[in-house]
Amino acid sequence: MGSKIFLNGNFVNSEDAVISVFDHGVLYGDGVFEGIRSYNRRVFRLKEHLDRLYASAEGIKLQIPMSKKDFGAKILETVKINDLNDAYIRVVVTRGIGDLGLDPRKCKIATVFIIAGKIALYPADYYRNGLAIAIAKTKRNHPDSINPKIKSLNYINNILGKIDAIEAGTQEALMLSIDGYVAECTGDNIFIVRGGKLITPPSEVGALEGITQKAVIELAGKKGILAEYKRMLIDELFTAEECFLTGTAAEIIPVVKIGDKVIGDGNPGSITQALREQFIELTLNEGVEY
Ligand code: PMP
Repeated sequence: MGSKIFLNGNFVNSEDAVISVFDHGVLYGDGVFEGIRSYNRRVFRLKEHLDRLYASAEGIKLQIPMSKKDFGAKILETVKINDLNDAYIRVVVTRGIGDLGLDPRKCKIATVFIIAGKIALYPADYYRNGLAIAIAKTKRNHPDSINPKIKSLNYINNILGKIDAIEAGTQEALMLSIDGYVAECTGDNIFIVRGGKLITPPSEVGALEGITQKAVIELAGKKGILAEYKRMLIDELFTAEECFLTGTAAEIIPVVKIGDKVIGDGNPGSITQALREQFIELTLNEGVEY
């Protein structure tokens, strides 16, 4: 059975949810997006996702044709209308329909759509036993070329990193900056635990400012675990006590191997596991009801 999609002001059946071949989102990846989760009929960190969506749009000088408040209401309505208790919500705003040139001024009105569907998590085994990740051959976009805080529709850099992961036979790959610092994975932020403290790369190295990343830092703070954003070279990861990834879809997932190096004793670490349990509890109790 098809779902209901919010598209440019109306709810339409998924088979009718189509956009123009002249949409600059299609022609150039000119647009922004968010991936949001709902748990137990509550949308997790809705305000943070809306703030990032509008900041991303501003970063590419894209005018979203709806207020933040109305956009939030439409997101809630989309999950509700599809009667989903737990959902993955994809929110997309493209530059809209233009001509075959790049000029964004030719696109008079942004295209907006919201899809609410089922979630696709990593198989449960990976949460229990941890993930092996590759080191991508592809370097992360330079932050002076594309601001990593902008969650744009142009994901080719990440997709090339994902292809590196697939070729290495892993689920994910770590992406390094052009000058060799650890940035993030293709669709997740990365953390290590060292001396009982959390360390994660700052956005300036080439990482998205993750909403899950921030939630984990807050949770750690409540447990008295220190966390800092710090530049790291790959060697610092190899000697970490623990390593894990964070993301809206993945939540918190342990990493036990990077390239051919085993992390810690090769098992998910105790701090990672404790944070994961706390995070799951948070998702069930926090969030905007629908
Ligand atoms: N980095 C990248 C490149 C991503 O696409 C994502 C997923 N949106 C993340 C990090 C994790 O961010 P968040 O926790 O906000 O989902």
